[in-house]
Amino acid sequence: MKKLNRREFVAVSVAAAGSGLVPRVAAAGPRAEPVLRRSDVVFMYQADRKVYDEYGATVLAWGGVPTPRTLQEARGIRFFGSVGMVTEFARYYERFPQTYEEGLCRDVFGKPVKVPWLTDMQHKGVPFWWCCTNQPRFRSYVRERVVETVKAGAYGVHIDDHMGTAGSLWLGVCFCDRCVEGFAAVQAGHADFRAEALKWAQAHGGKAESVTQHPLWPQWTIYQCRAAAGFMMELRKLAAETAGHPVPIGENAGLLWPRHLSDYKAVDLFSAETDHGADKRQWIDTPLVAYRLADAVGRPYAATASGGDWAFVKANNTPGLVRGWIALGYAAGHCLMAPHHQWCYTPEKGTHWYDGPSEKFAPLYRFVRANSNFLDGYESHADLSVVMPHASFVQNPARWTALFDRLSAANITYRILLAGDEIVDHPLSESQLRTANLLVANATDLLPPDSKLVAERQRRGGVFTDVDEAMRAVRPAVRIEAPSRVLALPRVKPGSAVIHLVNRTYDAKADGETPLHDVKVTVDLSTLGLKRAGTCRWVTPDSPAVELPIADGLVTIPTMGLWGMLVV
Ligand SMILES: [Zn+2]
Repeated sequence: MKKLNRREFVAVSVAAAGSGLVPRVAAAGPRAEPVLRRSDVVFMYQADRKVYDEYGATVLAWGGVPTPRTLQEARGIRFFGSVGMVTEFARYYERFPQTYEEGLCRDVFGKPVKVPWLTDMQHKGVPFWWCCTNQPRFRSYVRERVVETVKAGAYGVHIDDHMGTAGSLWLGVCFCDRCVEGFAAVQAGHADFRAEALKWAQAHGGKAESVTQHPLWPQWTIYQCRAAAGFMMELRKLAAETAGHPVPIGENAGLLWPRHLSDYKAVDLFSAETDHGADKRQWIDTPLVAYRLADAVGRPYAATASGGDWAFVKANNTPGLVRGWIALGYAAGHCLMAPHHQWCYTPEKGTHWYDGPSEKFAPLYRFVRANSNFLDGYESHADLSVVMPHASFVQNPARWTALFDRLSAANITYRILLAGDEIVDHPLSESQLRTANLLVANATDLLPPDSKLVAERQRRGGVFTDVDEAMRAVRPAVRIEAPSRVLALPRVKPGSAVIHLVNRTYDAKADGETPLHDVKVTVDLSTLGLKRAGTCRWVTPDSPAVELPIADGLVTIPTMGLWGMLVV
């Protein structure tokens, strides 16, 4: 990869800024405008101009170090350069060929650890080792990469595997000297946790992973997560200092994975992998939980499916499944990144790639661009607010996703009120809890101030403590009568509502949605903050918009394909 020196960079960026090629961050900083708009079309990897245009790309989330050529190719597109904490072993090795070993993670026996999903990768005969983000050698590598990316003219920086060392906790690492010293500094009386953990491992089967059962492991986990979040904050600051203004930061935080919210304050957006359950050969609602978690911390989420999902889509040729994922993303107020070139992974095949048919995907993204005014500026309406302690989610994510999936299945829209813990700094607020339909299904695992707020709110009454009770009592703002399942996701702004309707019946034989007729939608206009309305518009990717009458809140949609917006 060609690197620019400082002078070349200045020349390129001045010329490019003058010609309007490089979108600059406003002087007031990236927060002056949302880093990601609801109608953005986000590319994961770089493409050529023709492909960008075909999809209507507006953002590149995981680009390389920009070059004059790639910036020119991506003109008008907000370019995030990607820096990886786990995937860049070859480059790290080349940077420090003599001393790279200083920066490796170590298990309790002092051995380095392979990255489990890169076991098929080697560089000059050296396996892709997991590197430690608490080690100065590796930290300096990552810092250099951030500086290089910003100096080359990137609009933003994407961090892949943002948890660094904390992402490897499940493997029973890292016990390098730095990690052990750092823990001793915050955990009195444990000057050598490695020795303690080693004793434990030897007494409990002798496997490196057995240390995750050590009684002190929860404290170790908090320490490692805080260290990781601290490093992300440092990188955020470094990017801004390098640029001379705030630089938007994204990260691959798959929010359905435990603890990936630990550093949310260091980022402006998540652009991340989310399991879409492709192997179930149906459309599951669980990705919506990831989108709602992003809402809970006020960040946009540009999703992609997991490597396993893409491997399934490739092996079974099911681009129609992907179309449902795209519709759900935008309907939720977030997005699925344009699937023009996707990383696939299975333990058997290792890394491979999927280049799907753009004629199946691009029209949906062009539809989004053409109707950006029905997407931007709207916020999701929630029929029910659910208090979710982060500690409880980490303990049992499946229990929570099952609860949210039940609500979705009943077309009850929900908002997650995330209550933080020692890893995620996110206190509840009194105003959040003032909402009418509030579910507190699990009041344990709350930090004392949140616990107090919730108890006060419960004393005032009207709080559901059981999901069945809530589901019986809550009357959704939008109710659907259809031959098969349609998910309703209303989004509102003052004086207007856009109700997204997403067909959720996937026909595996046809690899697509089952078309529906006479879908009856009953809308509670006042709940959505609207006055009376006599008509609305049905806007879909398949056919021109039509005007439909509303009679006593009832709209009948004559035909429905994959997805449409009812604009009131
Ligand atoms: Zn370490």
